[in-house]
Amino acid sequence: MTAPLDRSATWPYDAAGEPGRYSYARAEHPNAVSVENVLGSLEGGRSLLYPAGMGAVTGVVLTMLPPGGTVALAEGAYYGHKQLFDHLRPWGVNVVEYDQTGPPPGGADLVLLEAPSNPMLTMPDFEAAAAHPASVVCDATLSSPLRLRPLELGCDVSLHSATKVLAGHDDLIAGVATVRDDDLFDRLHLTRRLTGLVASADTAWLLERGLQTVEVRIDRMEASARVLAEQLAEHGAVMKTRYPGFAFLISFDVTDGDAARRVEIATGTIENATSLGGTRTKLESRHRWEGDRCPEGLLRLSVGLEDVEALWADLEQALAQA
Ligand code: PLP
Repeated sequence: MTAPLDRSATWPYDAAGEPGRYSYARAEHPNAVSVENVLGSLEGGRSLLYPAGMGAVTGVVLTMLPPGGTVALAEGAYYGHKQLFDHLRPWGVNVVEYDQTGPPPGGADLVLLEAPSNPMLTMPDFEAAAAHPASVVCDATLSSPLRLRPLELGCDVSLHSATKVLAGHDDLIAGVATVRDDDLFDRLHLTRRLTGLVASADTAWLLERGLQTVEVRIDRMEASARVLAEQLAEHGAVMKTRYPGFAFLISFDVTDGDAARRVEIATGTIENATSLGGTRTKLESRHRWEGDRCPEGLLRLSVGLEDVEALWADLEQALAQA
């Protein structure tokens, strides 16, 4: 029923002195392969596990971006992507941000979409991106493969921070990249092995356990998020609500940064904490991390599994402080 946990770093060669399927865990290990099979079937491709969502992006960029090349990055996407590319500038990585609801800029060597973007919650124009000559990568962390399969929409790589809803319990950090092209799979695999961007057996095992409930978790989180998005949109203290109409993440604006701080620290049932996609509902001001990339009054709400009426009651009493 459950894949055994194998923490071996190395396995003996066979009787003829030849390495078997597994010889050294940096190359491949059974728990990663087991969860990769599950992830690949959800995505419709071949998956590779990484020790973080950021590890997956790093592996993809090191493999797919030519030296001196330019990544066209969706505006309003996860701020860590922009920070990573800025950090890698001395190694010849350039980045331009663009409005992903339209076509990517000419001259880009790799396109990175986010569906939907975190926390601005825009959706990409997949057709326009697929028509661009560069390879297209889509971070679909906020959708999950149950709501969106980027490889079916013309993307070359689907990326996830598996830390979020795929694992679902805020107890591990992991990432995944999925592709259809066998040559690209082999090149990504080689980069992962040589750079040691390898997730542990424990991480892989826990992620596989989390995946057993991902469908029921998303269904419930989404049902609650729909209700809360409507209620927020009608609330007098809320200036703007963003919700893509599916999945579990909402962002909304109160008047300014001070009001956002008062609301976030007034929550009870809802945790004032970062991250998203877990069983516990979390609210935070994103300005503290992203600065001018997002409005000072923006609050990000990741809806969890708690009773929706209890969540609304908590939001209502917290919004009274706005
Ligand atoms: N992509 C998105 C959309 C995210 O929200 C995050 C983290 O918040 C990441 C990637 C990075 O993932 P990780 O923290 O697992 O490295």
